[in-house]
Amino acid sequence: MNELRWDPTLREWVAYATHRQDRTFLPPAEYCPLDPTEPGGFPTEVPRESYDIVVFENKFPSFVLDAREPDEPGSALTPTAPGRGVTEVVLYSDDHGATLAGMSERRIRNLVEVWADRYRELGAREEVAYVFIFENKGEAIGVTLHHPHGQIYGYPFIPPRPKKELEAARDHREAHDSCLHCDLLAEEHADGRRIVHKGEHFTAFVPFYAHFPYEVHVYARRCVPSIAGLDEDERRDLARALKRLLPGYDALFGFSLPYVMVMHQAPTGGRDHAGVAHFHVEFYPPNRTAEKLKYLAGSEVGAGAFIVDALPEATATELREAVEEAKR
Ligand SMILES: [Zn+2]
Ligand SMILES: [Zn+2]
Ligand SMILES: [Zn+2]
Repeated sequence: MNELRWDPTLREWVAYATHRQDRTFLPPAEYCPLDPTEPGGFPTEVPRESYDIVVFENKFPSFVLDAREPDEPGSALTPTAPGRGVTEVVLYSDDHGATLAGMSERRIRNLVEVWADRYRELGAREEVAYVFIFENKGEAIGVTLHHPHGQIYGYPFIPPRPKKELEAARDHREAHDSCLHCDLLAEEHADGRRIVHKGEHFTAFVPFYAHFPYEVHVYARRCVPSIAGLDEDERRDLARALKRLLPGYDALFGFSLPYVMVMHQAPTGGRDHAGVAHFHVEFYPPNRTAEKLKYLAGSEVGAGAFIVDALPEATATELREAVEEAKR
């Protein structure tokens, strides 16, 4: 059952996908459903003896293309809609123990290609309004499978956070005739204290207004609306930026750091978003320290107001040092 219900108080859709309750939950490594299928072994999701990068449709999808009309009709105040969309799984490697941080720059470069390709393909579908590429990493984030993988949701609507960001960027464009993200990036470059890595075409920094202590945003230097618009050099440099940042994250506390990685870019339905949407990747590690996690509690969940106990200038300094250390 894939159904959307409208929350008129927050003016956003909530998606219901009841079959997801039966999801595989942290199976032992020898029964990983994302491993290659061994000859004579149990059949996994990938019926091959080895693979490089694989994309397939999620077995427990939050959205499906053929979702039927909801049983619940809702009301004028609280309408419902079919949960139509696409959910895909992207396997980064056939090596169960691998992480994005440990992968070669070359493999990450291939992954960038896959992401761009999926953005284009899913975005071309009539049902999809927004292509959301993301990764949940680590048990602290609630991942159900350890095998290195990310996900792609093709939402039938523009989800609230990107929508809010796009509206802010559109207002900024109207008021100043410039791109909000380009202006923010220029301020980060001019200040310099929160920059974690500066490559040829991408800059990674802890934003001035970070909501999480070790939050990092990776911005394309050129005002490109989506990952599909990046040229060869930019794609290579995005892979390099990730290959700098992620080992730095792992060097920070000396363990593989959990995080949520998300990509923000142009919606794919109709309207032109040039000069408003500006491709970037955002990382949200839940850790405040090596042992302590930041939990979203009263102020964050109920009021939407984040309270952070470390200044971005300080955490960026730590991260910059960790990135340097990881390079050695
Ligand atoms: Zn596995
Ligand atoms: Zn821009
Ligand atoms: Zn963003």
